[in-house]
Amino acid sequence: PRAWTLASRPKGTPTPNDFALISVDRPELADGEVRVANRWLSVDPYMRGRMNDVKSYVPPFAIGAPMDGGAVGEVVESRDPSLAVGDLVQHMFGWRDEAVGPAAAFIKLPAIDAPPQAFLGQLGMPGMTAYWGLLAVAEAKEGDTVFVSAAAGAVGSTVVQVAKAKGMTVIGSAGGAAKGEWVRSLGADAVIDYKAGSVVEALGKAAPKGIDVYFDNVGGDHLDAALAHARPRARFAICGMIDVYNDAKPTQLKYLARLIGNRIQMRGFIVSDFMSRTAEFYQDMAILSGTLKREETVHDGLDAMPDAFLGLFTGGNTGKMLVKL
Ligand code: NDP
Repeated sequence: PRAWTLASRPKGTPTPNDFALISVDRPELADGEVRVANRWLSVDPYMRGRMNDVKSYVPPFAIGAPMDGGAVGEVVESRDPSLAVGDLVQHMFGWRDEAVGPAAAFIKLPAIDAPPQAFLGQLGMPGMTAYWGLLAVAEAKEGDTVFVSAAAGAVGSTVVQVAKAKGMTVIGSAGGAAKGEWVRSLGADAVIDYKAGSVVEALGKAAPKGIDVYFDNVGGDHLDAALAHARPRARFAICGMIDVYNDAKPTQLKYLARLIGNRIQMRGFIVSDFMSRTAEFYQDMAILSGTLKREETVHDGLDAMPDAFLGLFTGGNTGKMLVKL
């Protein structure tokens, strides 16, 4: 078996040289353990934070050790009665072709009619992030005008569709006309191509009466534009700030002070805050699932992991970025 390791800690934007693919031992299973052949590996923007040696809500990747992350695979050997050969499971031993660990670290895929890789995207961590960020953190409700950035990505495209399904007006921002068209096809009422001009101007045109909710995936200019057009008592779910993940210098926000006069509420969150409500998520998403579109950008083979990951920062994906083994 093979696994990706972090070869060096990047300064700024990572390069392929920051990763190294190594051969790893194939241990015998102990009682209670299973062996899983990975079929789908996830790359996610939060992994960039784990490449830095800083204290955060997830520990940093260790240099030279196999990296981890979301994955879906098939049990190929089991020494635990709870999992049988052939079971499809999701787990966190990604960035490698084969995973070995205690059965409790592997969760059988829920009985929802969807392809297995959907549990790494819309029906998995990014989907939960979108769902809870929108409905619980921002407390978005029917009739609200919602602005969401990185709207053509895994989280953003789900935010757009859940918001539409719940009766909201949605403005989505994405890079380039093709992504904008796709976001519109998901039901967005207006789209902004942030690469074509000023976000603050475009948002003013798209939402002349202002926004009630901002779902932030980007930070920087997008957050500032949302502040500029936030209505009184607007709620901001601060999900991610991909614009600054590769950036060392702090961002200046011209409209930051509007937080005060307009009583804007801004709340950061981590998807794991809502783990205890996973059954609720599956229940509602299973109902919505037939009506939601799910797009994936798929790279082939373990060797492609770093390329897939780096593509997240250049807009290389529409919908969920995945690697298929
Ligand atoms: P995406 O599928 O959205 O992929 C990232 C996208 O971000 C790219 O496709 C690109 O689209 C866009 N992007 C990259 N760089 C920039 C930039 N400088 N400015 C504007 N857009 C940019 O990833 P996810 O859906 O997995 O994640 C979206 C966000 O949600 C991230 O910020 C992530 O960190 C955050 N997140 C937070 C979680 C939490 O628990 N709080 C959990 C999961 C995700 P484009 O072509 O449009 O530029």
